[in-house]
Amino acid sequence: MKPAIVWFRRDLRLSDNPALNRAVESGRPVLPVYIVDELDTQSASRWWLHHSLTVLRGKLESLGGSLTLLKGDASAKLAELAAATDAEVIYCCHRYEAEGRAQLIALRNALPESVRLNAAHGSLLNEPGTVVTGSGSVFKVFTPFYKAAMRVPVPAPDTKTPVSFHAPPDDADSNVLDSLLPTINWADGFPEDWTPGETAASDRLDHAVKKSADYGELRDRPDLEGTSRLSPHMHYGEVSIREVWHRLSEVGGAEPLTRQLYWRDFSYHLLVENPDMGWKPLRREFDNFPWVDDDVLLRAWQTGQTGYPIVDAGMRQLWRTGWMHNRVRMIVASFLVKHLLVPWQRGADWFLDTLLDADLANNSAGWQWVAGCGTDATPYFRIFNPITQGKKFDVSGDYVRKFVPELDKVPTKFIHDPWNAGTDLLAASSIRLGEDYPYPIVEHKEARQRALDAYQLSRDLLKSAAE
Ligand code: FAD
Repeated sequence: MKPAIVWFRRDLRLSDNPALNRAVESGRPVLPVYIVDELDTQSASRWWLHHSLTVLRGKLESLGGSLTLLKGDASAKLAELAAATDAEVIYCCHRYEAEGRAQLIALRNALPESVRLNAAHGSLLNEPGTVVTGSGSVFKVFTPFYKAAMRVPVPAPDTKTPVSFHAPPDDADSNVLDSLLPTINWADGFPEDWTPGETAASDRLDHAVKKSADYGELRDRPDLEGTSRLSPHMHYGEVSIREVWHRLSEVGGAEPLTRQLYWRDFSYHLLVENPDMGWKPLRREFDNFPWVDDDVLLRAWQTGQTGYPIVDAGMRQLWRTGWMHNRVRMIVASFLVKHLLVPWQRGADWFLDTLLDADLANNSAGWQWVAGCGTDATPYFRIFNPITQGKKFDVSGDYVRKFVPELDKVPTKFIHDPWNAGTDLLAASSIRLGEDYPYPIVEHKEARQRALDAYQLSRDLLKSAAE
């Protein structure tokens, strides 16, 4: 029988993978392939991808198969592969970014009529377009979306293990995997926190299910491991979201965590409706917002040198571990767009390059939510105070101490505003502000007022444009 190509994309798993299942059901020998392409450019994600593909390859080898690794334009490479192996069908799962969707169109055009392309939905609870308002439009607000989405049954996971493989072509590029690794030693610390791949994803899920009853209470505490940390595994599809949903539904008290899965779906539904939401504000009053595109401020933020400990801890956690706690993502994002007035797109780009879970849908939705320009966003005039946020969510200061070690000896009372500690206490804490750790780069009250003025200006501009 002629082979079936299985093109792995953001579904790097063997378990409950609809594309693989369909290939196995076809009875054809399976030829698994991954193509490193123009969508695999983000630095931290590439590190993850390297390791995730290594695990996937090992799993396929243990079943007697292999993973063909190619690099270049996906449609051209797949068309060549189909011709070289005489494959009659290519199975894959959908991606939802504009470029990912365009790949399927390009592939269809590149294949001869004799080769079928079969794409399945494998990474969301509900396909985009299937959860809509009474009038058939896409929900703009999360809560009604959630209520409607929860009424749709989630199919049970299904796994079909391949037993017959097609031999890989000889000319596969053996350097593909190594080309994904960074050339500087920035990622060396990632393995302390992360193990990419389906096996580790499954372990993470077991742990998250066990702890899910505590999630609602602990989820806002960056100093504790109160969240699942499934996000990079979910981004690469190392675990099936249907499996996550069903495992959580089997235990009591998991609703707050299950709800987050629907935030993820919501972001994807928004992205399909607004393919340019990675850079274009969803609300019109932000079209002319008077941003201050200042590289010095951006750099201070990126490197965790703003003088606000909770912001700096978050940015350093991101650099050191490739991940940041959700509460802190909101605080640092708010600080960049409101205290510093730097365009949210600059922050979103930095996140995409440095997050291991960098995900266009979730990231764009998160930034637009914080910046106030999303459809269901926090109002722009609600401005996080980084000092009170720190005191409220990092009560003991342990999170700050972990990532900003120069503040280690500062008493808890002043850990989130060390400049208020007074010279003697700072000296006793072995810290010289302005030398060992910066003074705040902006004063909170002034920055807050400046942000409010900028917002008012952008509203006035919109109003006068309409008159
Ligand atoms: P948990 O709290 O354990 O949640 C479980 C899963 O639900 C997550 O793994 C994730 O897949 C999903 N989820 C949780 N919160 C959200 C949310 N607010 N929106 C969408 N899905 C969610 N998430 C990403 O996966 N990639 C990103 O690039 C990303 N960028 C963000 C940028 C900003 C400015 C903000 C405010 C949030 C961003 N998020 C992003 C959402 C959220 O911060 C992360 O999904 C979460 O912190 C991941 O940690 P966890 O796996 O422990 O999440």
